[in-house]
Amino acid sequence: MSITKLENTFSLFDTTAQILQEELECTYLEALAETAENIFHEDVIQDEVSEVTKRRLEKEYSKLKLKSLEKEEIRKGFQLAILKGMKDAAQVNHQMTPDAIAIFMGYLVGKFTADQSQLSILDPAVGTGNLLTAVLNQLNGKKLQGYGIDVDDLLVKLAYNNANLQEQAISLFNQDSLSNLYLEPVDVVVSDLPVGYYPNDVNAENFTLKATEGHSYAHYLFIEQSLKYTKSGGVLLFLIPNSMFEDEEAPQLNKLIKEEAYIQGMLQLPPSMFQNSKHAKSILLLQKKGIGVEQPKEALLATLPSFSNIQAMEKMMSQINTWFSEGKKKK
Ligand code: SAM
Repeated sequence: MSITKLENTFSLFDTTAQILQEELECTYLEALAETAENIFHEDVIQDEVSEVTKRRLEKEYSKLKLKSLEKEEIRKGFQLAILKGMKDAAQVNHQMTPDAIAIFMGYLVGKFTADQSQLSILDPAVGTGNLLTAVLNQLNGKKLQGYGIDVDDLLVKLAYNNANLQEQAISLFNQDSLSNLYLEPVDVVVSDLPVGYYPNDVNAENFTLKATEGHSYAHYLFIEQSLKYTKSGGVLLFLIPNSMFEDEEAPQLNKLIKEEAYIQGMLQLPPSMFQNSKHAKSILLLQKKGIGVEQPKEALLATLPSFSNIQAMEKMMSQINTWFSEGKKKK
């Protein structure tokens, strides 16, 4: 994608979000969701906008037609605008999944599902939809249905507009993902898990991985819940803290995972990606047990090089490709 095209796409979202932010006296992210909705409907849909502002917006919208852009171009332009809005607003746990990680997870999902022509994919912590749409965009040629859930209504609104603009079929739910879900088990789960304590102790009681004392870990409960809503043989890719298997309650998590799934791999993200090594993360790859599903000969274990080191990354991709064609074979 050319830098100019990316700049123009970002600028379309950014300029019009700023105009709406001022007019509607709201936050940048709220205005961004509104402008995305306008762009999708090819109209200014906010009644409170004055005629002068409406004309200013229409002039900006006419500068770049969405139909002239690829899905990934729209996602990246929107992503930059979200990043700008999140600088002042978001808490660590609400942050969007970074581009390179989202694309890499999409590549892995593509590898795991190479033989499937139809897929349902759930992200139970969908946030802005950046991870989910990046994954869907890598699965060209398949019939796809996405599902996204988040407790944060503004993020769900951004995800909804993100999906519409990229013409991705995603059903979105604004609810707690750890309560009952209104969906059938899916083929694939991808998620950048919220890390920390889950405040609802009463609901945590419904989970095997509830803490023996005090609040339970949200990320543990998310893994248990995701396994529940995955079909037999389905795959699950989670972005998790490196230290997740070292916590005090980790033996219970390990036990549950081993009962219900096979650990296909764990890929540590390049440490250089994280300012504080305590926040470093890995991609955990699981496959839910089922008829015909067997443990891999060896799990895919590696520390990824920096995504900007092209040579090292190519070498790593070739090792991963070999694992998919050889190492993944059953014992
Ligand atoms: N992948 C997302 C993206 O690209 O924007 C970012 C995910 S962010 C790291 C984690 C998300 O989990 C946040 O959007 C947060 O609102 C959501 N979350 C936290 N607790 C939740 C819960 N109990 N149910 C549903 N969503 C939850």
